[in-house]
Amino acid sequence: MQKLILFVFAALACAACCRQDSRQSAPLDPVMDMSDFTLVTDVVPDAILEIRYYSTYNFVGSRIDGYEQPVALMTRRAADSLRVVSDELKAKGYRLKIWDTYRPQRAVNHFIRWAENLQDTAMKAVFYPMVDKSVLFEQGYIYARSSHSRGSTVDLTLVEVATGKELDMGTPFDWFGEESHPDYRRLTYMQCTNRLILRNAMLKHGFEPIDSEWWHFTLADEPYPDTYFDFPVSAPCR
Ligand SMILES: [Zn+2]
Repeated sequence: MQKLILFVFAALACAACCRQDSRQSAPLDPVMDMSDFTLVTDVVPDAILEIRYYSTYNFVGSRIDGYEQPVALMTRRAADSLRVVSDELKAKGYRLKIWDTYRPQRAVNHFIRWAENLQDTAMKAVFYPMVDKSVLFEQGYIYARSSHSRGSTVDLTLVEVATGKELDMGTPFDWFGEESHPDYRRLTYMQCTNRLILRNAMLKHGFEPIDSEWWHFTLADEPYPDTYFDFPVSAPCR
């Protein structure tokens, strides 16, 4: 009986927590409404996650604001499209490896604060050895807003199932330099081919690339093209 009472109490407490969360994120402030978002791994269970902005291994060198858990969130529409990409590439021997998906505006604000502090170059040797930090804004490495905050953008690469290794794409994720441009010419044949395997599959299933980063794709038919969400990255209450 005591166990039953404890169980009921726990269930009620959880329900209260969920109600409180939904009250906080409810329609008053659309940028806090995560109701149309899903955990990517619920839809794409084969995806491998390495959420760099939750870790300290990123160009800033610390956990980024708003990343409360190492999970990936996307709009349901974008996640459904990514599932199709994943299924197709899995049949060819690859898994998707995801570095970032939805990114709250507060995280973008963190990037801006970091870029304005020219003294902080802790991760320069790894991510931007060839670029002076003072030109990150004018050269388009840091923006005031990111398509990631609209919830239908993903940064990803491919892992070969047979070896468990990432494909060689010519640069690491978040490499600041022209070598990251998808059309960069001085790649090996294998690097070029690997980029095309990823790019062709993403474009075939509704994603669009950008000119500056081979790993970055946005769903062309994104459901929130004008909304820059700001709820934290954490698993939704179930
Ligand atoms: Zn990106």
